[in-house]
Amino acid sequence: MTPILFDLDGTLIDVSARHYSLYKSVISGQGVEALPPGDYWRHRRAGESTIDLLAVTPGVNVERFTAAWMDGIEQPAWLALDEPYEGAVEIIEALRSEYDLVLITLRRDRVALMAQLDALQMRSYFTKIICHGPELVRGKHQLKGVAELPPGGYAVGDTEADIELASQTGRQAICLSYGVRSGCYLASRGAETVISSLRELPEVITAAELPDLPRDVADVEQGVALRNVHLRASF
Ligand SMILES: [Mg+2]
Repeated sequence: MTPILFDLDGTLIDVSARHYSLYKSVISGQGVEALPPGDYWRHRRAGESTIDLLAVTPGVNVERFTAAWMDGIEQPAWLALDEPYEGAVEIIEALRSEYDLVLITLRRDRVALMAQLDALQMRSYFTKIICHGPELVRGKHQLKGVAELPPGGYAVGDTEADIELASQTGRQAICLSYGVRSGCYLASRGAETVISSLRELPEVITAAELPDLPRDVADVEQGVALRNVHLRASF
């Protein structure tokens, strides 16, 4: 079966409450005023990490912030703020009969990840779940187990990490513009297919799998269509 490599955060689940609440909690703990949610997400969607955007709020101890952020971001109490996107479970359930669904995430806490996938009733749809181990990696393509996956298919995700995974492993990237990065940013990072809803995914995949029509057939069909337009116009 053709593989579809799914990202989790920002792709299947909405992480906006977890990321912003943790950011606000840590920065407020240092006595610094947090950016409002709209400003925080404007920076994140334009390509910045939470650590990057500390530059716009002077007075933050970046080292202490980073330690607290890394410590908190995968803790169950914060993970409990995540919600599946509307239709996410339905879509993966529909795709899994025809595709080999693999979840690939840069999360480091496998135990917390599995517990969350169980709680969201998502775990059983994936034939394989790959996350960040203790090894140092420079991208999702270097995670343990990725090199052994069957070739081809798609990588579906919401950030440049997913575009890189697709290009490094020879798959088609399908990007979602509603997650952590904006459609404009994803396009600037080389995304060719950007969709705004997971509901468009089955259709995009089906269209990608249609054989290309030979040029002469396409020309003939276009000619017929043009003739029909002329005919209709002449009545
Ligand atoms: Mg993501």
